[in-house]
Amino acid sequence: MTEEINNKVTMEKIVSLCRRRGFIFPSSEIYGGLSSCWDYGPLGVEMKRNVKEAWWKDMVQSRDDMVGLDTSILMHPQVWVASGHLKSFSDPLVECKSCKKRWRADDLEKRVCPECGCELTEPRQFNLMFKTFMGPVEDESAVVYLRPETAQGMFVNFVNTVNSTRKKLPFGIAQVGKSFRNEITTGNFIFRDREFEQMEIEYFIKPGTQDKWFEYWINERINWWQKLGMRKEHLKFRQHSKEELAHYALGCFDINFLFPMGWAELEGIASRGDYDLTQHANCSGKSLLYNDEETKAQYLPYVIEPSAGVDRGMLAFLCDAYDEDIADGEERAILRLHPRIAPIKIAVLPLSKKEPLANLAREIFNNLRTDWMVQYDDTQSIGRRYRRQDEIGTPFCVTVDFQSLDDSQVTVRERDSMQQIRIPIAELKGILSAKLAGEALTEGTVGWRAHSK
Ligand code: ATP
Repeated sequence: MTEEINNKVTMEKIVSLCRRRGFIFPSSEIYGGLSSCWDYGPLGVEMKRNVKEAWWKDMVQSRDDMVGLDTSILMHPQVWVASGHLKSFSDPLVECKSCKKRWRADDLEKRVCPECGCELTEPRQFNLMFKTFMGPVEDESAVVYLRPETAQGMFVNFVNTVNSTRKKLPFGIAQVGKSFRNEITTGNFIFRDREFEQMEIEYFIKPGTQDKWFEYWINERINWWQKLGMRKEHLKFRQHSKEELAHYALGCFDINFLFPMGWAELEGIASRGDYDLTQHANCSGKSLLYNDEETKAQYLPYVIEPSAGVDRGMLAFLCDAYDEDIADGEERAILRLHPRIAPIKIAVLPLSKKEPLANLAREIFNNLRTDWMVQYDDTQSIGRRYRRQDEIGTPFCVTVDFQSLDDSQVTVRERDSMQQIRIPIAELKGILSAKLAGEALTEGTVGWRAHSK
């Protein structure tokens, strides 16, 4: 079961593949890198866009009850007073009295330094928000914070959104964007960063309906990860105990993923009552009440908040998809990514660099790239080229050979099954479109769909 893939995938292999093939690089690497900041390379940026676009399409575009926002990273400092972040968005920090290394006290099993075994200081609360100054004067009145979550941008725009869209409850606001946390301990590649992206929803509902909607969103969100190919056995829920919950929270569920270092949070789904809107109404002095036209009542809606990390999602998709097997007697590393998130959908591979074959292959490439991200590769043996595409998760390779010049047909090879079919060039786009949407390559083949079952 789970061990099957996790025997093969290690963080070292993922980090090395990501760097070698241009998914993810350390930030400012020529200067030695910057701890817990990462740059997405040519393939990483495509995959990350695909993850965010899939989320937006499924959570916003295809729903009647959702609208999107893109709010600023710097917000009025009072926002963080109202939300409680200024007072209590902190972790307990301890420092080793000998080597001076700093640790998160609640991460440690023993009360000694994990590095050198020496005595630690007493824990003190360390606020995780990044501070900066707005304008030319660096004094207390100019202090602003980089947002530690995108959520508050949606709460403070609740009335703007209702008034401009005339949405009725229940409805949600969605946002994808950067967040910043000055985490004490980072690590595990892109799992815990100081700069990262989130995909968050604030789903506003009538008070009293929170249990139904909480359950709905828990199911909706786990199904989404699975729909994009993530294996069921790599996902599980963790319900927060009463002691863990914030005083206002009605409930919280984490969707945990089996990362190479063990089970850890991928997304959190919280039932937050009317805490956030109440706080902002009190702090701003503005009415954030919702006018219920049906009942003529005025009230503050309750909210369910599904909050996922883009970078953590990327790491989970990469680990889940990583596999190794034997192809044509050779070991291959393969990313069995769902076609929706694979950075490159199709590779066009001519068997010769010379005309007239190259010309035909170029024509096919130019035609396909109007619809998809396509790579053209005419270097080295065809076996090598297949391996290269398998390693970056390209679902289909189109091979143009000498026969193609006579019969106007090409060979399409599928990544997971390695099955091949020969099809007319005129039908290529239509057939690839169906196959990328999940149709099996040939009768009896399984393809990428079987992998996600
Ligand atoms: P953790 O307990 O791992 O610190 P959290 O409970 O503080 O996470 P939330 O505030 O619920 O996280 O944030 C929602 C999501 O944002 C998380 O599930 C995660 O996917 C992502 N996220 C949070 N902090 C980070 C970070 N430092 N780096 C990358 N992703 C993060």
